[in-house]
Amino acid sequence: MDTMKAIWMAPLAGLVLGCAASTASPLGDDFPKPGPDGKVRLTEEEWKRRLTPEQFRVLRRKGTERAFTGAYWNHHEKGTYICAGCGLPLFSSKDKFDSGTGWPSFTKPINPKAVGEETDRSLGMVRIEVHCSRCNGHLGHVFDDGPKPTGLRYCINSVCLKFRKS
Ligand SMILES: [Zn+2]
Repeated sequence: MDTMKAIWMAPLAGLVLGCAASTASPLGDDFPKPGPDGKVRLTEEEWKRRLTPEQFRVLRRKGTERAFTGAYWNHHEKGTYICAGCGLPLFSSKDKFDSGTGWPSFTKPINPKAVGEETDRSLGMVRIEVHCSRCNGHLGHVFDDGPKPTGLRYCINSVCLKFRKS
């Protein structure tokens, strides 16, 4: 009797698991919902739960990934790079160029409102820090030694981005 039960239950369990797998996003993209002002605000603990340790270190603690180690410095597909914290579209592959730095580099954001800027005086340098305008996640820095047409180089950590193929 127990054996019969087991035979019946096994395919059923597979079915249930199969359903669960198909509704969950394969990329884990259940981004936090913005508030009425359009901004995403989570506590440190909530970010820690949502992000990988490396994403948390860079996005929420203004860290920097090691050059030539990220997923996108040498990535050439056509599409959109979105914020790994909140999903906001940040950069287009159209504006990406090979800077030779080991970090994905862009001449401009996908639109002027996508990223915010702030003066960063850490490490004895004056740099312009760039962050996601929706969740305030740190992305990298912008320098004025980029190619035409803008002359700007948005030097971005791969770990702060996710790619959506167009
Ligand atoms: Zn964001």
